[in-house]
Amino acid sequence: MAQKETLARYQEWIKKCSAYRMALSVLTIDKMTLAPQGGAAFRDERMAILSGELFSIRTDPEIFEIIKNLKDDPDADGDTRRSAQLYYKELENERVIPKDEYVAFSLLVDQGYNDWLKAKKESDYSLFEPTLKKLIEESKKIYGYRSSKAPIYDQMLDDYEPGTSIEFYDKFFDKVKERLIPLIQKVVKAKQVDTSFLYQTYPVDKQKAFMDKLLTYLHFDSSWGYQNETEHPFTDWICENDCRVTTKYLPDNVASAMLSTIHEVGHATYEHDIDPKYDGMILSDGVSCAMHESQSRLCENYLGRTKAFWTSLYPQLQEEFPGQLGSVSIDAFVDALNAAVPSLVRTEADELTYPLHILIRYEIEKGLFNGSLSTEGLNKTWNELYKKYLGVDVPNDREGILQDVHWSDASFGYFPTYALGSAYAAQFVHTMRKDIDVDKLLAQGHYDQVMGWLKEHVHQYGCRLTPQEVMTKATGEPFDPDYYLDYLEDKYTRLYHL
Ligand code: ZN
Repeated sequence: MAQKETLARYQEWIKKCSAYRMALSVLTIDKMTLAPQGGAAFRDERMAILSGELFSIRTDPEIFEIIKNLKDDPDADGDTRRSAQLYYKELENERVIPKDEYVAFSLLVDQGYNDWLKAKKESDYSLFEPTLKKLIEESKKIYGYRSSKAPIYDQMLDDYEPGTSIEFYDKFFDKVKERLIPLIQKVVKAKQVDTSFLYQTYPVDKQKAFMDKLLTYLHFDSSWGYQNETEHPFTDWICENDCRVTTKYLPDNVASAMLSTIHEVGHATYEHDIDPKYDGMILSDGVSCAMHESQSRLCENYLGRTKAFWTSLYPQLQEEFPGQLGSVSIDAFVDALNAAVPSLVRTEADELTYPLHILIRYEIEKGLFNGSLSTEGLNKTWNELYKKYLGVDVPNDREGILQDVHWSDASFGYFPTYALGSAYAAQFVHTMRKDIDVDKLLAQGHYDQVMGWLKEHVHQYGCRLTPQEVMTKATGEPFDPDYYLDYLEDKYTRLYHL
C-alpha cells in the first residue's frame, strides 16, 4: 500500500475503534448510574459481544503491521510516531489473547461488578470470594499469553503507570512508611481537631442546592460536562467536550460529596483541557493513572482543603445550613476538613492516612500474585493489616475488604497509582505556587486560572509525553517523593501543634 493509503487506512481504524469505545463507555456510565439492576445480565452479555467486536477490529493483523512500521518511521511526524508506539504496546499484549477468552473475560468483569455490589450490600465477603478468585485466575491466564517474562504483578503495575514496577513501589512505600507512620502516631496522641459539626444531619436536597454553586466555582460547565449520582464516584469521558462525573450524597456527612466532586471534576478538567487536535486518538487521554490521580487529588486536597478555596464558598454553604454551620468559623471548618483520623474507608480517608490505605491494598495484591496470599479468608488478612497500619478494628466486610469497586473489574495494579498521584501532585503544587499566587486566585474565585497553569504544564499534552517527561517539563526535575512527605509533615505538624 502506498504511504497515503496506509495512513488513511490507519486513520479510519482509529475512528472505528473510538466509535466502539464510545458506545461501550456510554453503556458503562449508564450501568454505573441509572440502569436498573434487573437488566444487568442481558446488558452484560451484549456488552461482552461489543467488546469482542472491538477486540477483532483492534487486533486486525494488517493494522498491526502498519503500526509496527509507523512507530519508528523517520518520515512520520512526532504525534503519529508516539501514537503508533502506544498502540503497539497495547496491541502487542492484546492480539495474543484468543478472542473467545477475551470475550469471556469481559463478561466476567461485567458480572464481577454485580457480584461485588450484591456482596457489599449484604456485607458478606464470602459472596464475592469465588468471583475474586476467578478474576485473579483469569487475569493470570490473560497475562500468561504475553511474551514478557516479568512477574505478572510487575506487568500490571506498568500497565497502569508506565515505568513502574514492584521495585519502584517497594521503595516508594518504604519511604512513606518510614516518615508517615511516626507522624500519624504523634497526630493520634495530639489534641484532636473538632469535626463533629461535619457529621450532623445534612438533608440531601440542600446538599444538591449547594452543589450547583460548587460546580459553578469549579467552572464545571454544562456545555462540556454532566454530573450524576452513583454508588462509587467516578469520571468518564467521551472526548474533550463530553465529560461525565458522578458523586454520592451522604445525609450525615457534608464533606463527602463536596470533596469527591472537587476530585472528580479534577479528572474531568484534565480530559477537557487536552489539546483537541488529539480527540478520538490514543493521545487524547490523560497519560497515566497516577498522572490522572495527581490532578484530581491536587484539586481535592491541595486546593479544595484550603481556606482560600472556601473564602467565597463557605458563606454560601452556611446559608444553606445555618443550623449546622452558622456558628462555625471558616477556620474551624477548614481545620475540620483537614483533620487526620485513622479510619476504615479509603475514599473517606484524610490526606495523611490515605497512602496507608493504598499500602495495605498494595501488599495484599502483591501477595495474591506472588502466591503468598489466597482469596480464602482474605477479609481476615485485610482486617489484620488495618489494625497493624492504622490501628482500627474493621467491624464488617462492607467497610472492610468490599469497600472499593476496583477488584470487581480486575483492576489489579491500579491502586498504587492513587498514592503515587498524591505524591506527583505535591511536586506540581510546589512549582505552581512559585509561578502564580494560588491562594489569591482561589479566594477571588479564579479557579479557572489555577486550572490554566495545569492546562499549560500538564493537561494539554494528553499522552503526547510520558508521565516522566510531563513531570520534568513542568517542575524542572524528575519525580521526588520528598515533596509529598515534606508537605504532609509540615502541614500536620502545624495543624496539630506537634
Ligand atoms: Zn480519582
